[in-house]
Amino acid sequence: NPLRIGLLFGGRSGEHEVSIRSAAAAARALQADSNRDRHQVLPFYLQKDGLWQGPAVAQGVLESGQPLPSDDRPVDRAALWQFPPEASTVDVWFPTLHGPNGEDGSVQGLLQLMQVPWVGSGVLGSAAGMDKIAMKMLFAQAGLPQVAYRLVTRSEVWSNPCVFPKLCDQLEADLGYPCFVKPANLGSSVGIAKARSRAELEAALDSAASFDRRIIVEAAAGGKPREVECAVLGNDQPIASVIGEITFESEFYDYDTKYSDGAADLVIPAALPAPVVDRLQTMAKEAFLALDCAGLARVDFFYVEATGEIFLNEINTLPGFTATSMYPQLWEATGIPFPELVHRLVTLAIERHTVAQ
Ligand code: ATP
Ligand code: MG
Ligand code: MG
Ligand code: MG
Repeated sequence: NPLRIGLLFGGRSGEHEVSIRSAAAAARALQADSNRDRHQVLPFYLQKDGLWQGPAVAQGVLESGQPLPSDDRPVDRAALWQFPPEASTVDVWFPTLHGPNGEDGSVQGLLQLMQVPWVGSGVLGSAAGMDKIAMKMLFAQAGLPQVAYRLVTRSEVWSNPCVFPKLCDQLEADLGYPCFVKPANLGSSVGIAKARSRAELEAALDSAASFDRRIIVEAAAGGKPREVECAVLGNDQPIASVIGEITFESEFYDYDTKYSDGAADLVIPAALPAPVVDRLQTMAKEAFLALDCAGLARVDFFYVEATGEIFLNEINTLPGFTATSMYPQLWEATGIPFPELVHRLVTLAIERHTVAQ
């Protein structure tokens, strides 16, 4: 009997639209010819307001690629507790949710309570991978190289007009310009700004505070570092893919560069000396284990060619999963085609669930 795979997508996140595209690609791979007798896909759509839609509605969203319009009425709390009846028949959940309320451990906690295996990291790995400050603290503890950074809270930015100038003085002295200001819990570069001056720093902090209570400010990695990424697959003994590079003309890899056709190119495998590839793959696996990740993750680095320095930037526990996304392409180039990749992820989910019981 084929496994019933609950493909969970959409979500209460700024990356809702990307999630729909990831789910469509995952659905195709799960139903590829080689997988027909292995999986039966049941799509579930999480609306922007948090309501669940079962396969009848979700299939339409998958096919159209268009989110269901959500009105501005406050959501009916009783309705949030109602799951589509098909949900109870799922054997393995496959979330392709990106960002808060999906990649951050919240959905993983729900699935854990439901006692069903799911693809990807558990509560700890997901939450630690989503919060850039928690993530950097764990990476530092594991001895992984990173840029200098400081934690700032929304209340420091907004509540006290006397504190704010001192805060900016301190950030300038510690990190210099340019620096990067980021909401701690987001993705797709949403809310991220590069600050080159005091005025830009102040504006960037104000803007980041509108996205998150926690803000991270980072020193820039070199002038324009090369951006290289490694895919990780597995549970306790993960494997690392070939290295991919992202090339683009814009100032940094911002939202528009990520999602405008042709604004960025993926180079797979990246042209790098073998020892650099080796170090990146080793660090990617160390980063994965440092956060107790499971199943999959994409680990992003900065490589400063002039000095040979490598900085670990971040881990993404539910990376973009469209057919043109880095994660599946890295495995394709490593010798694991997309249909095989999704099947391995399902198998890893079951394996981890069994071990965790
Ligand atoms: P993702 O979509 O990969 O989840 P994200 O929203 O988590 O992205 P980051 O990867 O932290 O954001 O940063 C987005 C981009 O901003 C980087 O790819 C890079 O171009 C630029 N950037 C961020 N931090 C730095 C830094 N310290 N030095 C240089 N460039 C940086
Ligand atoms: Mg990220
Ligand atoms: Mg992300
Ligand atoms: Mg990134």
